[in-house]
Amino acid sequence: MSSPSPNAGLNLAQQEAVNYMHGPCLVLAGAGSGKTRVITHKIGGLIRAGVPAKRIFAITFTNKAAAEMRERARGLIGRAAKDVVICTFHALGVRLLREDGAVLGLKSQFSILDSDDVASILKDAGGGVDVATARSWQWTISLWKNQGLNSAAAYAAASNDNERIIAKVMAHYEERLAAYQSVDFDDLISLPLKLLQNHEQVRQKWQGLVRHILVDEYQDTNATQYDMLKLLVGGKPSEQACFTAVGDDDQSIYGWRGATLDNLKKLPIDFPSLKVIKLEQNYRSTSAILRAANNVIGPNPKLFPKNLWSDLGEGEPVRVVDADTEEHEAERAVARIQGLRAGGLNQPGKQYKDWRDFAVLYRANHQAKTFEKALRKAQIPYKVSGGTSFFDRAEIKDLCAWFRLWINNNDDPAFLRAVTTPKRGIGHQTLGHLGDFAGKYKISMFEALFSSSLGSVISGKALGSLHEFGREINDLEFRARHTLGAEAAKTFLMDWLKAIGFEQYLMDSEDSDKVAAARWSNVLDFCDWMSGRCGGQVEDASGVNAAGEVKSLLEVAQTVSLLSTISEREQDQDVVTLSTLHASKGLEWPHVMLVGVTEGMLPFQLRDNPDAGATGQESAAQRAQALEAASATLTSHLQEERRLMYVGITRAQRSLAVSWTRKRKKGREMVAAQPSRFIAEMGLDQATAREDPREKLKALRAEFAQKAAANAAARNAVK
Ligand code: ATP
Ligand code: MG
Repeated sequence: MSSPSPNAGLNLAQQEAVNYMHGPCLVLAGAGSGKTRVITHKIGGLIRAGVPAKRIFAITFTNKAAAEMRERARGLIGRAAKDVVICTFHALGVRLLREDGAVLGLKSQFSILDSDDVASILKDAGGGVDVATARSWQWTISLWKNQGLNSAAAYAAASNDNERIIAKVMAHYEERLAAYQSVDFDDLISLPLKLLQNHEQVRQKWQGLVRHILVDEYQDTNATQYDMLKLLVGGKPSEQACFTAVGDDDQSIYGWRGATLDNLKKLPIDFPSLKVIKLEQNYRSTSAILRAANNVIGPNPKLFPKNLWSDLGEGEPVRVVDADTEEHEAERAVARIQGLRAGGLNQPGKQYKDWRDFAVLYRANHQAKTFEKALRKAQIPYKVSGGTSFFDRAEIKDLCAWFRLWINNNDDPAFLRAVTTPKRGIGHQTLGHLGDFAGKYKISMFEALFSSSLGSVISGKALGSLHEFGREINDLEFRARHTLGAEAAKTFLMDWLKAIGFEQYLMDSEDSDKVAAARWSNVLDFCDWMSGRCGGQVEDASGVNAAGEVKSLLEVAQTVSLLSTISEREQDQDVVTLSTLHASKGLEWPHVMLVGVTEGMLPFQLRDNPDAGATGQESAAQRAQALEAASATLTSHLQEERRLMYVGITRAQRSLAVSWTRKRKKGREMVAAQPSRFIAEMGLDQATAREDPREKLKALRAEFAQKAAANAAARNAVK
C-alpha cells in the first residue's frame, strides 16, 4: 500500500509547520485551525524524514488526548506510531523518575499519591486539622510547587502568617513523602526538572535521546513544564533546538493552576530564531459560531491579532435559551437534543442520529447533576467527563445496590455492598464463609441465606443477622412493588433510610460534618428525584408534561439500576457528553449546548472582598494598594472566564445553544439571576437568537411518547 502524501489534508501554513523540522517552531493560532492536526501529521513527517519513532516525543494535555493522538498517528503512519512517545508531561515525568530517580534517592518502584492521600497526610502534618483546611493547604502547596518553590523558598517568599504556617506544614509534608518513597502529582514535573538541572549525566542522556518534542495546548503549560521542555531540547545552540509548540493564547484556561502565558512570551526571547506560524482558517465551525466566538474574545487583550475565518457557510444561528430554573434548563437541553436528533429545529440536510454528536458543557462539576437526571428521565445514554457523575457517587451507588438487590436477588456484588452499608454486625469473615458456601453449591449469596445447611458454616448471632437482612430485602421488595405515586414513594424511602440509619452511617464514615451533610443532601436529592418519577404530579417546570403516569417504586428502581449499568458499559460508545468547559478543551462536537451561562456562574463570581483581612490599621497608601491588587485579580479572573467561554463556543461544529436561568443557587439560597454578560458580548441577532421551541416541542414530545409506548409494548411482548 502506498502511504498517503505527507501533505494530504493540510493547507499551506500547516504544511510549512509540518515540514519545518530542524529548529524551534511555534504554531500560534485560534481554535479549530488544525493545530493538533499539525502535531499528528508532523509525527508522520518526522518518521518519513528518518527520525526514529522512539526519539519523537509528543506531549498532550490529558491522557485521553494522548490516546486519541496515538490512534490518529496509527491511522497516518501505521505500526511505527506505536514507538512514538505520546503522553502528558506528567507521564513523561514518571518515565524520567523510574529510569533515573535513583540519583535523587528514589526507588524505581516509588508510589504516586492521589489527591486524597495527599489531603490525609496534610491533615496529619497539620496536627489533625479538618479536611477543608487540609484541602486548601493542598491547593496552595500545589501552586507553589508549580511555581518551582519548595517549602524553604515558599517560607522566605511568604507575605503573611497564614502562608508561613502553610510553608511549615509543607516542610513536614516533604519529609513524609521522602520517608514513604512517594511522590505527588506536582512532583512528577518538579523532580524530573531537578534531575535534569542538577545531574549532568542524566541531562545528557535525555538530551541525546530526544530528537523532536511536539507540545499541544502549549498555552496551558506552567513554569516548571517550560523549564523541563527547555532542558530536554537543550545541549545545543538554541537555533537547533528541535521542538514544535502549538497553542492559542485565547484558550489559556488553567491560570488558576499555575499555567502562565509568560511561556508564550518567553519563547521568542529564549529562542531568537523561533519560527512562528499562524493558521487562520478554522475547519471546525460555521461562520455564525465563529463570529460569536470572535466577538466574545474581542475585549481581551491580544498577544497577537487573529483573523479566524471559516468556509463552512453561515449555518444555523446561535440560539439563546432562557429557563426559569436549572431543572427547566435541563428539560430544554434534553428537548433540544431530541429535536435535533429527530431532524427538527431547522436542520436541513444532515441528520444527526448519534448521541455522540451532542455535548452539554458547563462551568462547574456540580452542575452536571441536574442534566444527568433529565437525561436519565428521557432514557438518553450519556457520560460525564471531567468529573464524577452524580450517579457514580458512593452514597448513590450504596442506595442503588439495595435497589438492585430488590430487583435481582442473585446480584452478589449488590448483596455485598448492601449488607455492609450501613454496617450491621456482619463481618468479613462471615461474608467469606457465606461466599464459600454459595460457591460450593453454585447458588447466589442471597439464596444461600435461606439454605437450611448454612448453620453448619455460620453459627449463632451472625446467622441471625443474615436471616434478618434477607427478610428485610424480601419485605422491602414486596412493599416497593405496592408503593404507588410520588408521595407514597417519598414516605417509603425516607422511612427506610431512617430505619437503616443511613444519615448516621454517613456521619460516622466522614471526618467532616460538612462533607457528610453534603452526601446526605445528595441522598435526599436522589430520593426526591426517584419519587418524582413515580408520577402523579406535575414534573415539568415548562408545563409541557402535565401529571405523569403513576408507577410503582419498584418499577422506577428497575429503570434506575438498569440505566446505571448501561452508562457504565457505554463509556466510549454512542453517548451524549456532559463535560466541564475545562475538560472540553481540544475536543469538538456537531451540536453543543453551553448551559448555566448565567451571570455569577459564568463568569464565576469570586467571593472577593478587598476588605477581607483588613485590620483597620492600614495607611491610606496600603489600602489603595490592596484595592488595586484586588481589582487586578478581578480583571485577570474575568479575562480567564472569557477565554473559558471562548473555548466552550469553539467546541461546536454545526449548532450552538447557550442557556441561562432566571434563578440560580447562591450558597443555600435561590436568587434572581441575569443572563451572563458574555451572551450580550456574542453580538447575536436578537430576532433569530431567542429560541422558543415550545410549540415544536409539544409535537416532538408527543411523537417520542408514542415511540416510547411502542418500545415498551415491544419489550413486554419479548418478556
Ligand atoms: P483547538 O484549538 O480547539 O485545540 P485545533 O487548532 O487543535 O483546535 P484541530 O482539532 O486540529 O484544531 O482541527 C479542528 C478540526 O478541523 C478537526 O476536525 C480537524 O480534523 C479539521 N482540520 C484541521 N485542518 C484541516 C485541513 N487542512 N483540512 C480539513 N480539515 C482540517
Ligand atoms: Mg487542538
